[in-house]
Amino acid sequence: MKSVEAMNTFVQDTGGWVASQLEACTRCGMCAEACHFYQASGVPEYAPVWKMELLRRAYEQKFTLIGKVKVALGVDKAVSDQDLEEWSKYLYYACTVCNKCSMVCPMGIDIGSLIAEVRAGMAAAGVVPDDLMAAVNKQVEEGSPLGVTDDVFESRMEWVADEWEEDLPMDKKGADTLVVFSSIEIMKFPTNIAAIAKILNKAGENWTLSSKAREIVNFGFYEGSHEHTKMFLERVFDGAKELGVKKIVVTECGHAYDAIRWHAHNMMDVPDMEITHIVGLIGEYVDSGRIKLKAGALDNGKTYTFHDACKIQRKGGHINEPRQVMKILAPKSFKEMSPNREEAICCGGGGGVIAIKDADALRYQTFELKVAQVNQVGADTVVMSCSNCRLQYTDCVEHFNLDWKVAGLSQLVADSIMD
Ligand code: SF4
Ligand code: SF4
Repeated sequence: MKSVEAMNTFVQDTGGWVASQLEACTRCGMCAEACHFYQASGVPEYAPVWKMELLRRAYEQKFTLIGKVKVALGVDKAVSDQDLEEWSKYLYYACTVCNKCSMVCPMGIDIGSLIAEVRAGMAAAGVVPDDLMAAVNKQVEEGSPLGVTDDVFESRMEWVADEWEEDLPMDKKGADTLVVFSSIEIMKFPTNIAAIAKILNKAGENWTLSSKAREIVNFGFYEGSHEHTKMFLERVFDGAKELGVKKIVVTECGHAYDAIRWHAHNMMDVPDMEITHIVGLIGEYVDSGRIKLKAGALDNGKTYTFHDACKIQRKGGHINEPRQVMKILAPKSFKEMSPNREEAICCGGGGGVIAIKDADALRYQTFELKVAQVNQVGADTVVMSCSNCRLQYTDCVEHFNLDWKVAGLSQLVADSIMD
């Protein structure tokens, strides 16, 4: 039975930390309004507290007297296969694991991490949506959810190097820094590769790409499977260790940054090397003068705004660097959306949601919140530092026939570097 697998995973993963978080929840419901899926739809089952409900029930029934008594008296039922099928939709269609909800919880509960635990149970029970699972399986079998095989990687990098005339060092032993792109950048936004290469080359960074650590995306992390998450992380770390680098730079991908920067440490031996995000590196280069940007390069009468990515800005803390860059490039025409920084609302396409076709209607409905925010500030261009957000924005701009431009931060930086 699927429910037995899920329950075993919930119970196995319910250590002291999970138990204390579940016990702390007063079921006040304040987290509901913080969730963009609930805000956009008003569906009660999309409230964060309800998404954790299966984990709470499993914990109560297994570890508490009251839970055992409730089941014995028939007041509560054991988690069933039908429950899993139902919750699979709440957890994968209607949650980007953005963790905005935890910011409003008066008890300080890390709701996103608990939802990730519920996803782990779903993965063990095999009730992950088919589209998402197909992408995971592709990453297991081919090394990439978007078809970035060895040959594709090599030919894309050669093409980018020729087309944009940028040096893209490959498998360079003795390099200090390994740069790992996401498959979204490789397949959908190749200009980002050229842009980031230009930034690194101008800064004089001793960097390399790796044919082994080809891409940073981690669909096992979206799925909730510890086994797959670890497998994909190991590929990156193996490539980094082989080249002997001191630093890994994650490019414009938020979830991948979360997986390798924080979660890796809870599931494996992480090699002793710095892990950072390209936005952090750009900030360092600007601060130290390793790159100089043309002041006011984007003050062209158009309005720019910045979309904060949940994993890079809210969780990663890279909040000031993009603003520092935008204030140099567009001192007169940069305006903040509201809410912003840690309190920004997710784009609605992260956490694997954009990969699930059946979630499209809800994903578009949720994006209407962003449409309102961007329109309120009157922006012509929305800038961001996550390619998954950029894919969601690009798709939604087309879906809603909006007249905004969508831009990657690295691209704007590369276009404005002084020689
Ligand atoms: S805001 Fe916190 S305490 Fe209140 S229901 Fe949500 S998780 Fe529970
Ligand atoms: S993590 Fe984000 S998407 Fe998921 S329930 Fe919380 S606010 Fe909603």
